[in-house]
Amino acid sequence: MFDPRTHTPAPAELAGRVIAITGASAGIGRAVALACAAHQANVILIGRNPAKLAAVHAEIAAGGAPEAAIAVLDLEQALARDYDAVADAVLDRYGRLDGLLHNAALLGTLTPIEHYDVPTWCRVMHVNVTAAFALTQVLLPALQKSEDASVLFTSSSVGRHGRAYWGAYAVSKFAIEGLSQVLAQELENVSRVRVNTLNPGRTRTAMRRAAYPAEDIGTLPLPATHAAVYIALLGPASRGVTGQEFDAQA
Ligand code: NDP
Repeated sequence: MFDPRTHTPAPAELAGRVIAITGASAGIGRAVALACAAHQANVILIGRNPAKLAAVHAEIAAGGAPEAAIAVLDLEQALARDYDAVADAVLDRYGRLDGLLHNAALLGTLTPIEHYDVPTWCRVMHVNVTAAFALTQVLLPALQKSEDASVLFTSSSVGRHGRAYWGAYAVSKFAIEGLSQVLAQELENVSRVRVNTLNPGRTRTAMRRAAYPAEDIGTLPLPATHAAVYIALLGPASRGVTGQEFDAQA
């Protein structure tokens, strides 16, 4: 069975590939964007904060990698026309899309279901699930133009086994697993688009700090530690692998 954790990417493994990443402004998304660019991908940085995206864009340029593109899209606020604008821009500029990483997410609050704030529930479900569905839907025509496209959804251990107090976040990650399975089956045998989920596991980011404020975050792996796993699943190494769930850490 394919194990992305054993993969060592070649220096130009992603050359010529166009890869879009949501939540590319910070944390794991930023690290994966930098790593994909370093391995020669044309990266499309999707996020809500133009200044943070511009900083990642500049970092990629400074490293001498292929020029990145920025797509500002607030997944909480975006309307149908905003999604369409991103899809049109991708097709205009590149003519196809080879990889789509759904990484952006909201944690919400850690609260018993009995007391969970309904508006917070709706925001988390919208950003983590509905926006990922909507973005996938508008980008499918571009993905179907690729010889070998990968859609990768970001899961979590609380999206595979329920855990008390994780509320909408846990439920949204279960939903992402379901979305991935349904889409993988629909596209298998009728397209060259593969669909999988990846749980990065505990990682040193702002979200982790918010979820575990008492933890010594310095003991956790940096986001860049997982770069090779993401490259394996977004790039040619995982060709033909679909409908599966992966973990970046043991
Ligand atoms: P961060 O909070 O560090 O980063 C989240 C990213 O999502 C940021 O780029 C943020 O943008 C973006 N984002 C949030 N809301 C929106 C929005 N409305 N529109 C567009 N972008 C948005 O989280 P991590 O890097 O830790 O998490 C990345 C993924 O990994 C998530 O899916 C998370 O669930 C998952 N994960 C993380 C784990 C961990 O230990 N860190 C463990 C398991 C799973 P901005 O910079 O503007 O805030």
